Amino acid sequence: MSVVGIVPAAGAGERLGADVPKAFAVLGGRPMVEWSLEVLREVCDRVVVAVPEDRVEPPDLVAGGTTRSESVRNALRAAPEAEVVVVHDAARPLVTVELVQRCLDALAGYDGAIAAVPVTDTVKEVEDGEVLRTPDRGRLWAAQTPQVFRADALRRASSAEATDDASLVEAIGGRVRVVEGIPENFKVTSPLDMRIAEMLLC
Ligand code: C5P
Repeated sequence: MSVVGIVPAAGAGERLGADVPKAFAVLGGRPMVEWSLEVLREVCDRVVVAVPEDRVEPPDLVAGGTTRSESVRNALRAAPEAEVVVVHDAARPLVTVELVQRCLDALAGYDGAIAAVPVTDTVKEVEDGEVLRTPDRGRLWAAQTPQVFRADALRRASSAEATDDASLVEAIGGRVRVVEGIPENFKVTSPLDMRIAEMLLC
């Protein structure tokens, strides 16, 4: 079974306010993306990284797109041999080998298996500043990456746009299983997140 890692790392990361794209901001002495690559290389046969166009040099770096979904599509096209894909955002540097492995183990009998954590805040659906709905918190999970898929399911699903890959697989009727993630696998978005990640990594 050929397992290929896909790392979308082509976002600008404007909310971080760094002078380089977010995945290349230095975190704990190395570019942020390196933390995820080290973990993925332990469990994948190969890892394809979608990077900003001006950083495409060595093999297995492909040009990212204008959206995250486009970046994933570009990487997927570069891995025709993949039977299983592990998609993981460069912006989650605190992922662990154990979490990726648990997602891979959970894939049996499913099209996808994703890390997610139960939501602790009560979530409101809001329009124009007014609450429309309060979904039952007991059923809400916040999706993280890694998200692992049977490669053929992701290939069939991935022509559309979404904020994660699982929702594309769900939209074509794929079955996706949830694996309880770890809170430290948060997405680095703001300068505060950088400081917290740095404290946890070093
Ligand atoms: O924008 P956000 O922080 O949600 O991005 C999640 C991941 O997707 C990041 O690792 C980012 O580098 C990547 N991304 C990408 N191509 C884009 C936008 C985001 O690879 N066009």
